This record gives sequence, C-alpha cells and structure tokens, in this order.
Amino acid sequence: MKHELPKLGYAYDALEPFIDAKTMEIHHTKHHQAYIDKLNAALEKYKNLQNKDVEDLLKDLNKIPEDIRTAVRNHGGGHSNHSFFWKLLKKDVKFSGDIAKNIEKTFGSYEEFKKKFREAALGRFGSGWAWLVLNKGKLEIMSTANQDSPLSEGKVPVLGLDMWEHSFYIKHNANKAAYLEDFFHVINWEQVNKHFKGEK
Ligand code: MN
Repeated sequence: MKHELPKLGYAYDALEPFIDAKTMEIHHTKHHQAYIDKLNAALEKYKNLQNKDVEDLLKDLNKIPEDIRTAVRNHGGGHSNHSFFWKLLKKDVKFSGDIAKNIEKTFGSYEEFKKKFREAALGRFGSGWAWLVLNKGKLEIMSTANQDSPLSEGKVPVLGLDMWEHSFYIKHNANKAAYLEDFFHVINWEQVNKHFKGEK
C-alpha cells in the first residue's frame, strides 16, 4: 500500500488573507506530494514496512533498516508533519476548551505562550518546525530541524508550525515574524483540543 496525499478538507483560499491560496496550493500539491513520493520510493523494497502508519515508522526510527533510515526520517517526517499541519488550520476558531486552560496554567497566559512559541519558531536556524507537544503528559514548546518529528523523541505533537521558507515566502517574503502573527489567526483550536486528548 502506498502513502497518498491527504485531502485538505478546505479550499486553498480558505485561510486568506493570513495564508495565501498560492502558497497553500504549492505547499500541498508539490512539497507535500514530493515527501510522499520519496517515502514510497524508500519503502519500495521493504514490503513489511509499507502497511505501517508513517507515525509508527517515525516513533521507532532505530528499527528502520539503515539504508532507508534517513529517507524515512526526512520524507516520512515531511509526510507526517504536513498531514498534521493541514488539519490545524482554520479561521475564526476560538481559543477554548481544555487546551486553553492547560496552556494558561502551564505558561501563565495565552500571550506568554505565544511569546515562547514565537521564540522557538524564530530561534530555529534554517528550516524546521516549532511545536507544542505533550512530553510525558506535560505541555512543552520545542522546535525540530528539517522534517524531524517530535514523535521520534517520544513526544506527542499537539500544535506545529512549518518554518520552512516554502510555507511563507510568497506572501511574507523574509518576514518570519509576520507569518507567525498570521498563523495565530488560523489555528484550529478544536483540532488542537483533539490532539491534547490523544485523538487524531
Ligand atoms: Mn512545508
């Protein structure tokens, strides 16, 4: 069974003006598709790995044959991270529910959480991701390089932000801070609440 590009579940222009339609279309149909194609190519000669969820492959990278381990880490990570990211995006969803209470408890306030998340995102040198994760049941902010997944470190992603230039360059050019500010307008907190409860 081959990995396939998941549907977005919304139109490419649904996040305008915060994330532009052109970026969404290229990001989904070109970048995400490329990770999937390369993951499928890497798994070609390993039939026993082809039916596994990409998340399970990433949780146990050491069990992946050495000759494809880097490919699974990069392209499997790219597939998993992007599938996760698309579901996180929706306009006009209120910051609420258990996740809101726990963010306020853990970081002091929503503003303080934003500040720490922003620091993690802007502090990541080169391409990577900023994350809110559950680490042994506790909320934590972190970042990863390239397409590395928090799953490979035993952490559960709750919220993630793609900080690769391909995710913002068309609209925001080099202004990462403006991209970040726009991201906070399109967080699907209902979905984040699901992740916090351990649902998909
Ligand atoms: Mn991306």
